[in-house]
Amino acid sequence: MPMLPGLDIPAPRRARRTEPPAPSAALKEKALDIHRRLCGVYGCPIPYFHSLDPLSELISSLLSHRTRNAESGRAFKALRARWPDWAAVEAADATEIEATIRGVTWPELKAPRIKAVLAAVRERNGALDLGFLAEMRVDEARAWLQAIPGIGPKTSAAVLSFSTLRMPALPVDSHHHRVAQRTGLIGRSVDVGPSHPILRAQLPDDWSAQALYDNHEVLMLHGQKVCFHHSPACDACPLLDLCPTGHARMKG
Ligand code: SF4
Repeated sequence: MPMLPGLDIPAPRRARRTEPPAPSAALKEKALDIHRRLCGVYGCPIPYFHSLDPLSELISSLLSHRTRNAESGRAFKALRARWPDWAAVEAADATEIEATIRGVTWPELKAPRIKAVLAAVRERNGALDLGFLAEMRVDEARAWLQAIPGIGPKTSAAVLSFSTLRMPALPVDSHHHRVAQRTGLIGRSVDVGPSHPILRAQLPDDWSAQALYDNHEVLMLHGQKVCFHHSPACDACPLLDLCPTGHARMKG
């Protein structure tokens, strides 16, 4: 199935549950060490930045792909201001939605995708509501969401973690992923989607929703503030002694 540019990875109708190989004790300890150090720098617990119901969080997440937060936030508010509820958005003309969200990346793709996702939720649940996910296990809830085309691991985890569901799921964005790769938590060839179960398996099974949210947030913040895409500030990084990329760069 081809990937739709700018949107999450289309999943097969039945999301496969592939377990990653069990991480070594050393890798688990390293993941915890990174978490503790970054929590010390950025201050855990990190306050949740959203308190949206899960369906609204899903729309917000779809808008946010490859788009700056300020722009996706503006587009989300514009949708809420233009239509009274998500049912009205589902019924709206795609070109009108596209015009309303024009500040995001690829509005011409996201507008029909939002309508299709809303229709799929209604078809599969009988209502435009995702509150029932709270009764499921995290892996079941993620599989339910990922069975909808256009919803991949990052979006499913974001809906469970960032929304008022506050479920223990670990989202991985591009900043989080970059820090995980450079520090050696995941291999260089592991893409963002497949990194989700690998990084989750390195953290304790019994971690709370807040602890997993903190883990995502501190790695993301570190990618935004220190481990930049170009020219990471390795000489000022609290992870330098355990980061193979940082060692190589400092030697160079
Ligand atoms: S040492 Fe450098 S490459 Fe490694 S995490 Fe820190 S900033 Fe990123």
